[in-house]
Amino acid sequence: MTTQVTLTKTPNAQVTQLDAMVIGAGVAGLYQLHKLREMGMNVRGYEAGTGVGGTWYWNRYPGARFDSQAEIYQYWFSEELYKSWQPSERFPAQPETERWLNHVADRLDLKKDIQFSTRISSAHYNEDAGRWTVTTDTGETIDTQFLIACCGMLSAPLKDRFPGQDSFHGEIHHTGLWPKEGVDFKGKRVAVIGTGATGIQVIQSIAPEVGSMKVFVRTPQYIVPMKNYKYSKENWAKWGERFHELKARVRQTFAGFDYDFEAPPWADLTRQQRTDILEQHWLEGSLSLWLATFPEIFYDEEVSEEVSKFVRDKMRARLHNDPKLCDLLIPTDYGFGTHRVPLENKYLEVYLQDNVEAVDCRTAPIEEIVPEGIRTADGKIHEVDVIVLAVGFDAGSGALSRIDIRGRDGRALKQQWQEEIRTAMGLQVYGYPNLFTTGAPLAPSAALCNMTTCLQQQVDWITGCIDHALRNGKQTVEATKAFEDAWVEHHDEVASKTLVVKTDSWYMGSNVDGKPRRLLSYIGGVGNYHKRCDEIAAEGYPGFAMS
Ligand code: NAP
Repeated sequence: MTTQVTLTKTPNAQVTQLDAMVIGAGVAGLYQLHKLREMGMNVRGYEAGTGVGGTWYWNRYPGARFDSQAEIYQYWFSEELYKSWQPSERFPAQPETERWLNHVADRLDLKKDIQFSTRISSAHYNEDAGRWTVTTDTGETIDTQFLIACCGMLSAPLKDRFPGQDSFHGEIHHTGLWPKEGVDFKGKRVAVIGTGATGIQVIQSIAPEVGSMKVFVRTPQYIVPMKNYKYSKENWAKWGERFHELKARVRQTFAGFDYDFEAPPWADLTRQQRTDILEQHWLEGSLSLWLATFPEIFYDEEVSEEVSKFVRDKMRARLHNDPKLCDLLIPTDYGFGTHRVPLENKYLEVYLQDNVEAVDCRTAPIEEIVPEGIRTADGKIHEVDVIVLAVGFDAGSGALSRIDIRGRDGRALKQQWQEEIRTAMGLQVYGYPNLFTTGAPLAPSAALCNMTTCLQQQVDWITGCIDHALRNGKQTVEATKAFEDAWVEHHDEVASKTLVVKTDSWYMGSNVDGKPRRLLSYIGGVGNYHKRCDEIAAEGYPGFAMS
């Protein structure tokens, strides 16, 4: 392995020669760069943003923060690194998380090996050479043996959602492309479209500032109040003492958090006992109500309905039983937890403000954006100064489909995924040798996994796999068709037993017109997924052909 970036002059262009290339400088990309550099590889990262952070670079909208507690939204490869950072609260907001990832990148001296402000345009596999030719929007060509796409699960914003967006006279921003200089909402007439995890954070954060706000509600969400509190130095030192325990724990639980389903079976409990458990987790103020009470929520219609009713009652009380608001803002046509459950802070109370209106866009859908604002199907024009598009992402497949990726025999990933989204455990795709992926479809992700847990585990596996191949004199790794088929079958079988597949959401790809329906996140449990990955590594990577 060489250790320097080699630039080869060709008659037409400069070609950067690499052993490995990492796309993305978020949680996964930074760690992947570090691991491959540790192996002595000539590796370089490429990032579209001007800085590190990935999700935490792009999503700088008001109120952005994660729903995992700070003590587990962490890297686990270095106890020293863990202890070197001091989170200010249980659920830190975006600016702090962006600072943390900069701290990590600086401590590991990663930035010198990352090319910023560079978006990858294409990646074509050259079968004869066994290498990838990658091009960028800055005109660079890279020739690399291994290509590791750490492009993020939720990084392709649905930014052109409505006709007429360009005609709007005011400001219009997608939350995933939020301007660094911020947006002034003071005294303005604001529209927020979307009430997913993002919309909820925006709405509750800007409510005290706006002149007036119209929230366009189509599908309401079950919510859980976030209990956020400050972390002192002493708090953090205590978590530090538990570093090894937490590190081991998050790898074994259902969703990569430190909590897990530990309540007795639903059927063995009295009504009162069940309510007590739900109350206790409601007060806990984390995602534990969803991911650490009753696994039956995921597959038993009756349990799902009981728990949904518990949450609905809580929401109804907070809305003061207002019939119109309850009808619009409390879900009734899907079960609690079959959609990503957001944590919130006084979100529902926003709708009780005199200057806030919930607009029902189930009965009167948004038709277009016009110069003055938003026109709905009832012919009404909602005049506003600022429009916030909290309308989500082309999740899982979107980030990779934006790149023109061609594998063996000229196959195109975008085209294949337009027909059916398939991967081999989210780590590789059959037909694309030496292309590895993190945060890709069919691996655990986004609240069905605490992202730092899963991304690190995937990076570790990918690094181990490449290392194994090279140590054994092999130059290419490709998931076999049989392995991929078996994984897709297993994934679908597990998913089909759950109620999640019955609910429309980005989890199922149903938020993007024409996207083939399949649960994008593996729901068989992080612990099980991790174990399977470890077994494959221990057995010498069966299912991954090396040549
Ligand atoms: P999302 O969950 O897909 O929500 C998008 C929202 O926009 C939905 O309410 C959707 O309504 C609405 N929408 C889309 N098109 C519309 C249209 N034409 N008319 C009216 N409404 C429309 O996206 P998100 O809120 O950005 O969240 C995505 C994921 O990011 C989350 O599920 C979570 O995993 C992650 N996230 C995490 C955090 C956190 O950790 N706290 C925060 C933010 C995001 P329909 O449902 O009816 O389509």
